[in-house]
This record gives sequence, C-alpha cells and structure tokens, in this order.
Amino acid sequence: MLALKRSDISRGIRRFANMAADLVLPPTCPGCGKAVGDSDSLCARCWSSVRFIEPPLCAVYGTPFTHDLGEGIVSAEAMADPPPFRRARSAAVYGDVARRLVHQLKYHDRPYMAEAMATSMRRAGRSLLEEASLIVPVPLYRWRLWERRFNQAAALAASLSRQSGLPTDPLALERVKPTRRQVGLSAAQRQENVRGAFRVPETMRPGIAGSNVLLVDDVYTSGATVKAATRALLRGGAGAVDVLTFARVIP
Ligand SMILES: [Zn+2]
Repeated sequence: MLALKRSDISRGIRRFANMAADLVLPPTCPGCGKAVGDSDSLCARCWSSVRFIEPPLCAVYGTPFTHDLGEGIVSAEAMADPPPFRRARSAAVYGDVARRLVHQLKYHDRPYMAEAMATSMRRAGRSLLEEASLIVPVPLYRWRLWERRFNQAAALAASLSRQSGLPTDPLALERVKPTRRQVGLSAAQRQENVRGAFRVPETMRPGIAGSNVLLVDDVYTSGATVKAATRALLRGGAGAVDVLTFARVIP
C-alpha cells in the first residue's frame, strides 16, 4: 500500500524553498512550475500526487506489496532474478511530479533541489544508510558530464553525505563506455547497453576494498544500470552494495 508522508518532504521542500526564494521570483512550484502564493512548498495539487513508497516492501527489491506478508518477505521477481546488490530502496514512485522533480534537478541547474530529494531518500533508505560505509553515485560518461556540467546522482549523493555524515566519493566508480539512453529499449537491450560500462579505477580500489557501498541514482527504471554498476563495485573489491534512488518506476 502506498501512503503519503508529508512531513519529511515538507521539511526538505521548505529548505529548498528558502534557498530558492533568494534566487527565483516569483516563487514557483517545483512540481508543476505554476506560481505559488508563498515560497513554502509544492502546490497542493502536486503534494497530493507524490506517491511515497511505504512498507510492506520486497526485502530485496524494495517494491511495494499490496498486502503485508511479514518481515523479510521477498517478491517473485527477487526469487526468479536475484540482483547482485543486497537491497534497493526508493523514496517515491516515478509518477508525474517525481518525474518533474528529477527533470528539474537534471536539466535546470537547480542543484539545491537535491537537498529536498535526499531528505526523502534518507527516510526510505534508513537501514541502508545505517550499514553503509561509503556513498557512491552512478557516474556519467565524461562527455555527457561536460555537456550537462552536472551529475544529478552525484548531487543527491553529496546531499545524502551532508545529511548523514557518511563519506561520498564521486570518483570511486567511472563510466568507461558511452551508453545510449535506456528509454525505449527492451530489458535485454538495456542489459547489453550497460554491460561493461562501469569500472572502479585502480587507484580507487584501496578505498573500496571490503566497504559497504551505498550506490545512489536518481531513478530506478529496469535496474540494468545499477546492476551493472553494482557488479563493477563488487569486482573492484566492495564487500556489499545497496542501492538507493529518489524515484522508482513501478510497472
Ligand atoms: Zn505544483
């Protein structure tokens, strides 16, 4: 079952709004872009449409169950297709508002939005953060980073690091293969697209060795990207990998 928890996101949004108020006038809703009376939050309509992911969840994939079957229960997907990571968690279902928040973070030079999004991720990933020793963002390929100047996953990782006190290293993993956008690709094509795309650089291996890595990205779509990144981290010496994203596509 999915339920709304407004308190956490409102804290984050308020923080975001205070910073935004200095930069943008008049204040606009980060969800829909409409002018809002004060700079305090998402507009009411956007509020009610963000679907935060709540227990009961698959213990592995973090996908919501419609019925509470008890602690530690895993989904049919987790049994049929066990992932290389231990657990994945996400703050919100990738619906209209979550999609716009991600888009704004990614393309509109609003890096301060990462703080609000990280607040909701911290709540969804509480037990993952408790066991993590290092936060690593999913990297972009060099030219894409140059083109966009901003890696949204690294921004979320930096905010999570500030809020949790855990270290983050945006260079612990590198993307060594330019990949096509995953949109419109089949599951098999997605897997092929990201095969061998990531690597832990030699110089980063001592820092990774034996560590519990929390891998961070903005959206979990098919899981192909974070699975490929997880395999690279494990090959690079990580002891275990958990995955935390802001949003998740729920088919
Ligand atoms: Zn709105």
